[in-house]
Amino acid sequence: MNLTELPGIGKGRAHKLARLGIHTAEDLLLHAPRRYEDRSRIVTLVEAARLGEGLVEAGVVLHDSFRRGREEVLKIIIRDSSSTAALVCFGRNVLGRMFPPGSNLRVWGQFSLRHGEIQSSLFEAEVLPASPASPSPPLPGFVPQYPLTEGISQQMMRKAVAAALERVLPDMEEDLPRAVRTREHLTSRREALRALHKPATLEEAHQARQRLVYGELFQFQLDLARAALKRRRSRHRVRGPATRTVVEPVRRGLPYSLTADQERVLEEIKADCSEPWPMARLLQGDVGSGKTVVALLAACAAVERGEQVALMVPTELLARQHAAGAARLLAPGGVRMALLLGDLNTSQRRELAGALEEGRVDLVVGTHALFSEGYRYRNLGLVIIDEQHRFGVRQREELLAKGEIPDVLMMSATPIPRSLALTAFGDMEISTITELPPGRRPITTRLARLGNEERVYTFVKEKLAQGRQAYLVYPAIEGGTSRELRNVTEMMEHLVPRLAPCSVGFVHSRLSEEARSETMERFVAGRLDALVATSVIEVGVDVPNATVMVIEHAELFGLAALHQLRGRVGRGPHQSWCILVFQEPLSEDARERLRVLYHHNDGFLIAEEDLRIRGPGDMAGAQESVRQAGFLSFRFADIRRDMQTMIAAREAVRRELELEQEQERETCRGEELRR
Ligand code: ADP
Ligand code: MG
Repeated sequence: MNLTELPGIGKGRAHKLARLGIHTAEDLLLHAPRRYEDRSRIVTLVEAARLGEGLVEAGVVLHDSFRRGREEVLKIIIRDSSSTAALVCFGRNVLGRMFPPGSNLRVWGQFSLRHGEIQSSLFEAEVLPASPASPSPPLPGFVPQYPLTEGISQQMMRKAVAAALERVLPDMEEDLPRAVRTREHLTSRREALRALHKPATLEEAHQARQRLVYGELFQFQLDLARAALKRRRSRHRVRGPATRTVVEPVRRGLPYSLTADQERVLEEIKADCSEPWPMARLLQGDVGSGKTVVALLAACAAVERGEQVALMVPTELLARQHAAGAARLLAPGGVRMALLLGDLNTSQRRELAGALEEGRVDLVVGTHALFSEGYRYRNLGLVIIDEQHRFGVRQREELLAKGEIPDVLMMSATPIPRSLALTAFGDMEISTITELPPGRRPITTRLARLGNEERVYTFVKEKLAQGRQAYLVYPAIEGGTSRELRNVTEMMEHLVPRLAPCSVGFVHSRLSEEARSETMERFVAGRLDALVATSVIEVGVDVPNATVMVIEHAELFGLAALHQLRGRVGRGPHQSWCILVFQEPLSEDARERLRVLYHHNDGFLIAEEDLRIRGPGDMAGAQESVRQAGFLSFRFADIRRDMQTMIAAREAVRRELELEQEQERETCRGEELRR
């Protein structure tokens, strides 16, 4: 129903309400109160002053006044059994005529002790009937306080909501199936909305909100589940039989055996890849948990069936590294590989395009250039996206449009908080690796104040002398920014002589791709001892011999980025260190981030803390997929507070859909029998 159909709401007010996301009368009912005023009982003036607000009944003793500037301000002095108090009538001297001495008032107001007396300047009052024989009006109960916007008063909002309750509540649609309501002992949505705006008790208001959160999350999860079902039904995938043997020889050639967790998720992926619908799966695990090898084995399984696989990574640096690693691991399986980079010349490009189109390449590794115009695949069966958070939703969709119905396996660099996983990736299956490969020693994290860093360099030098390698990370490429920040360029000048005779190289995003890869490759090969860098090395690089990570101005990095950086070390048999050098003064959040990082190594826990500190809004900034997920626009639910409800709702949705499918199958069977 249009807002303007409600009494008291014209075009002007409707326009203002729109700023609160209220566009219809129904939206008014979904506008949840911030809190409730307890007008369910009469309190004494002393108690009201102690509580800060309250409903009191008191007699008017006399009128007084004081001057403020040119204004004469009326004070109505009232008294009850506990005390006297002053109602200060700024700009409201007319109240004097309405509330003469001798009258009895019922007052709702904010009371406080000022200038030695109990005062209220924010109050609503009404005169009580004089004769004790006529009854006082009933108590209002718990009165909602709504979030407001300029030009809309609390009174207006209450009236509007009351009108909406009367006119549209009976038409509000139910959001939960009866079976779910019965099982979970939940009221109807209408009853909950009524109770939200007109609760008899605070407990009832609380229950109502919980009920509405459940309904909202149920609908949200239902949409996600339906989307997943639709994907399964609409696109039928024909899976060819295995025509080559790839997985087994590759597995036999691995320099280690898979952990139980790796085995489990690999099975999950393989099972999903044998279903007659395209897979959409998120593979998550902490930094260094060994996601790459799992993804590559999944790729081998696809290659066995004669399919092509594309592995997409966010930087060319990482593409080269992945390609080199994959070439080594997959050689025993006879997998034909190609590396697709942006700077190929025309003839190279033509050659590669031909190879992809004719199916002479099994696995191609590259950046999003993989899916640019000009490349066509003969039989793209699986797309693997590493460091998925670096890609926008659009890039991902483009790529899906490329193959007709490829399976998609996304990998996240660090664990995703459970709440985000269930929302942003709610229509995907999720595989999780929780255990790290054996033999890893936990990384030791140290904090150092800027000013003590010379000792840090001494420590680094010691480790380099023992044959290990180190990263030193800075927030800026060069000086000259508004704030004096440590930066790669100046620190190179300082560190090269400081760490001599050890060799030092540097990378940052403004170097040419070529220069960057060359330095990187020297570091990977162990021909460079120390690498000075910006956070470009954050993603994916894997050098087991590197055991020291120094991050200067650690206070400027986000929690997830810091954990990622730290994950660059601790990948080999040697003890590793992460040294966070920070500059004071620290903001509250920065202190909190460093504290979390100092105490915890577990990426899953850190992800939850990150969400707690930053809030879903900021996380959304970091992850485009999250912005799309729409959970920022929940009316009642808060994903941080209502996680348990989200899980329960997801479970309920699953049960409902299973029942639904069961019934469908029965109907089909029935029809078959009749025929
Ligand atoms: P991430 O999950 O962060 O992408 P990687 O796939 O880069 O991690 O793996 C980290 C390191 O662990 C690599 O050096 C890899 O060779 C090694 N690794 C992976 N699986 C195992 C395993 N089962 N046993 C021993 N080392 C392993
Ligand atoms: Mg990785």
